[in-house]
Amino acid sequence: MAVLIDGRKLGNSILGDVSERAVALAARTGIVPTLAAVLVGGDGASVSYVRQKERACERTGLRSVTLMLPASTSEAELLERIDALNRDSAIHGIIAQLPLPAGIDVEKVVSAVSPAKDVDGFHPVNLGLLMRNAGGLVPCTPAAVCHILDGLGVSLAGKRAVVVGRSLVVGRPLSCLLLRRDLTVTVCHTLTEDLAGEVSRADVVVAAAGRAALVRGEWVKPGAIVIDVGTNPTPAGLVGDVEFAAAAERAGYITPVPGGVGPLTVAMLLRNVVKAASTSF
Ligand code: NAD
Repeated sequence: MAVLIDGRKLGNSILGDVSERAVALAARTGIVPTLAAVLVGGDGASVSYVRQKERACERTGLRSVTLMLPASTSEAELLERIDALNRDSAIHGIIAQLPLPAGIDVEKVVSAVSPAKDVDGFHPVNLGLLMRNAGGLVPCTPAAVCHILDGLGVSLAGKRAVVVGRSLVVGRPLSCLLLRRDLTVTVCHTLTEDLAGEVSRADVVVAAAGRAALVRGEWVKPGAIVIDVGTNPTPAGLVGDVEFAAAAERAGYITPVPGGVGPLTVAMLLRNVVKAASTSF
């Protein structure tokens, strides 16, 4: 039976560290790290994600500002708002909550955020730095997955990792971070011919597809580390991308949904805000 990884506990420990760093920064410079979240015509899930981030800021002594813009907001107006936040020295981190309404070019918006304030780590400059292993702000969910892996104390070099999902938010940046840890990385997607075969050979499986129970328990290699990034609302509540009970029978370590990667992702975001604030003067 797998060891259950407690993402809430890990997330709380990072938030404790974030809080200490924020206090130290304020004592040294008077700066209170501040996150600005921009929400355009937010659906229910986006509003709840932003609220979660606001609450985490409150708990850790960070300031947060939320701009709730109507769904009718034009791309030009949104870009102007982001430009104003870029120029505001009291704001250290900016997130444009995705998804954006149809008609707004996500690429333009992501690229409009100053790389120094891009606490989501989505700007082409930060993704380039990630690829070059040259610093920058690292995307939060991939950082959360690596925090879990690094904390296990298991030797990863040379082992096989399979990432299911190739999005710019999770799968692709994560594949870079796993390579940095000397894993042999395979990235799977909707056209992967033999997902079961790929997963069954993996020592580390990260599921980030957004498909409930896509990764079957019987595919998991005995002793593998299984990290479930997926969040899928079902009538029975939130579930991940992994068939949890069956996978837990075979895995060495496994994350639950909820209570796994999610709380750590929020903690990584706040860590990026403090990092951005610390380099802003
Ligand atoms: P996305 O829709 O942008 O990308 C999904 C990826 O999964 C695509 O690359 C697609 O090719 C792949 N995929 C989809 N169906 C597949 C299938 N049947 N077989 C193989 N590959 C398949 O999604 P995303 O933004 O990367 O998010 C993925 C999931 O992770 C979602 O459930 C999302 O809610 C969740 N998520 C959770 C957190 C967190 O903090 N817990 C953060 C980000 C995303």
